[in-house]
Amino acid sequence: MNIVFFGPNGSGKGTQGAIIKERYKIPHIETGVIFRDNISQGTELGEKAKAYIDRGALVPDEITIPMVLNRLKGEDCTNGWLLDGFPRNVRQAVRLNEALTREGIDVDVCIEITLKRETAKKRIMGRRLCLNDNNHPNNINIEAIKPNGDRCRICGGELKKRDDDQDEAAIDQRHDIYYDSKNGTRAAIQYFKDLSDKRGIPAIVELDGGRSVEEVTKELIEKLGKLSLK
Ligand code: AMP
Repeated sequence: MNIVFFGPNGSGKGTQGAIIKERYKIPHIETGVIFRDNISQGTELGEKAKAYIDRGALVPDEITIPMVLNRLKGEDCTNGWLLDGFPRNVRQAVRLNEALTREGIDVDVCIEITLKRETAKKRIMGRRLCLNDNNHPNNINIEAIKPNGDRCRICGGELKKRDDDQDEAAIDQRHDIYYDSKNGTRAAIQYFKDLSDKRGIPAIVELDGGRSVEEVTKELIEKLGKLSLK
């Protein structure tokens, strides 16, 4: 099953993504994580991306698109993938769809977690990263995933704040891109909705992210379960 996963920063995409990854045994490919890993390893890609990420701007398509298309060719992707953080604009959506069409594959499902912008911002500022595992969600502003003191609630690992999560201007910039329905991420979502209207695929799954983590997970699993997909 090939899934593109949308939701503004702070909507709980990381948390729900970890659940989908486990359940369907597909890799959870997060472009933000790929960039951050490259930055901490001091690679050339990381060096190029850092300045954009620090101010909440998009890393240029010339860097991001080939990086993602290449990642989707990985051996672990043969049974499907969950793509999170890409596409973030219409150009990326078109290029992804074109590249997949050439390979004879489709995006099967497009998931969108909806959330009000102000709520998303509050959640972002409470987010903490587990240094042991990116898929261990912790947030001081969400009861269900509150850290255990100052340690990861799952593994007890050390927690860290993301630099771009504490910078309000960077958060606003990221949300400007997400909520832009002309060229930004909401326009990319619309691109998949239009494809779905035309061809019946991808299936569109919408979730209200303003509820508890458990409620969103329950609806997500139910809706995915109803789709008759490989
Ligand atoms: P995220 O972890 O998804 O919040 O991504 C962190 C940052 O990585 C973003 O603010 C962008 O600077 C960069 N980034 C992630 N995904 C993309 C993408 N699809 N296109 C361009 N830049 C991206």
